[in-house]
Amino acid sequence: MPAITNKQQLLTASLDRLRKRFPLPAVPADTGRTVLEELIYAACREGTTAADADRAYAALKAAFVDWNEVRVSTVPEVAEVLRPLPHPGGRAKRIIALLQAVFEERYSFDLGDVVKKGLKDTARKLRFYKDGVDDYAVAWVVQRTLHGHAVPLDGPTVRVLRRLGVVEPAVADDPQVPEAVRGSVEHLIPKARDAEFTELFSEHARELCVEGVPHCPLCPLKADCPTGHEVLAKKPADPKPKPKPR
Ligand code: SF4
Repeated sequence: MPAITNKQQLLTASLDRLRKRFPLPAVPADTGRTVLEELIYAACREGTTAADADRAYAALKAAFVDWNEVRVSTVPEVAEVLRPLPHPGGRAKRIIALLQAVFEERYSFDLGDVVKKGLKDTARKLRFYKDGVDDYAVAWVVQRTLHGHAVPLDGPTVRVLRRLGVVEPAVADDPQVPEAVRGSVEHLIPKARDAEFTELFSEHARELCVEGVPHCPLCPLKADCPTGHEVLAKKPADPKPKPKPR
């Protein structure tokens, strides 16, 4: 039986253990991206890791002259640049839809005024661009640009939370995580650690708590993870996972 059953304590202990396992660089206070760029970055970041998203975002900026050129490009053209991110076509469609919606509304790509209205109004305004912005992207901008308390949840992060028993088994690890689920997770994580949570859980989902059979024997969270207990009771230790191409 897991020793820690309180969800808040479990997440705090998990963060401490994952920080030792994955010594990632500190999240910068200022990403240097505009609001629009942060939304585009979120479309690259959702469902993957910071390293992969950084590469895809840099490739996007290098491949096109400016955001207007991305806007008038086709989905396959943009998707080709975003590979090898998973689901590049969906991401490309979303980025083009966002750029088109912002351009039609403003004849520019400046969303600077949107973030001057307070967290709730900003979130509401960003949701207006509904084909290009999902709940993950809104939470991402609140966390990274506005420095408000938000925990963007994508499929891999929810998979780990579900296995840890923090969210209900019925919450699927698809991209459209309900806002209410995000709210419940945000209550369990202190504001000072929300960005760290985002980075560490993405890394953990990619390296150990993978889709299919997780690598529980190697996991620093196994002592307090109900799924880990089940997996370890069923089978002998997995061989060391092969490193994934980055
Ligand atoms: S013990 Fe297994 S299921 Fe639990 S978090 Fe670790 S890898 Fe995932």
